[in-house]
Amino acid sequence: MGVLCRAQNWGSMRILIVEDEPKTAAYVSKGLTEHGYVVDIASNGIDGLHLATTSPYDLILLDVMLPGADGWSVLEGIRAKRDTPVFFLSARDEVADRVKGLQLGADDYLIKPFAFSELLARVQSILRRGSGKVDPVIQVGDLAIDRVRRRVVRDGRRIDLTSKEYTLLDYFVRHDGEVVSRTLIAEHVWDMNFDSDTNVVDVAVRRLRAKIDDPFDAKLIHTVHGVGYLFEQRPL
Ligand code: CA
Repeated sequence: MGVLCRAQNWGSMRILIVEDEPKTAAYVSKGLTEHGYVVDIASNGIDGLHLATTSPYDLILLDVMLPGADGWSVLEGIRAKRDTPVFFLSARDEVADRVKGLQLGADDYLIKPFAFSELLARVQSILRRGSGKVDPVIQVGDLAIDRVRRRVVRDGRRIDLTSKEYTLLDYFVRHDGEVVSRTLIAEHVWDMNFDSDTNVVDVAVRRLRAKIDDPFDAKLIHTVHGVGYLFEQRPL
């Protein structure tokens, strides 16, 4: 195993989801939980405001159209007491709504339907900004990933990755030493469904290998035939 302080990095981060659509709440909650966050769900504005102002959260994901009290008033109520970062999750795509949300003190705005990877990237970004206690650099052998700068260095050489390649590498590193199937990779990196074409995974892995493995003697990404891939450092 590389130096991967998963629990230390993410274990204490608490996120509140205020969302009345059970499917959306479950989908977002499942994804965030899998990434090590502690998640609570409130299904209406009143419970959401109560939890948001009485429990310590690092981030609040707030739907706009809610029973009880809408997202605007929940945000106003939160802002009267706390400066917890708030993201609006909304089906509304009106510019005026977005401006209103930001003026009321929201930190970001995601339009439904959104890809989970997009939400996760923004969540990680704002949580990094909010707390100085997270060590952002993960080291696996001679490979170092700086999550704040999204910068990858191997054996002292800077490696430029596309956004997808970075997300894929980040996924591998989080699962250091575990066999991950193409299906799992597709779901987590592309938010694709189980029956989606997983050939796209192989193509992306090939591109990532060309950058982080091919120029070096020690390979990190290993093919597990018939199953998927295994990311790990092996002795030469
Ligand atoms: Ca709603």
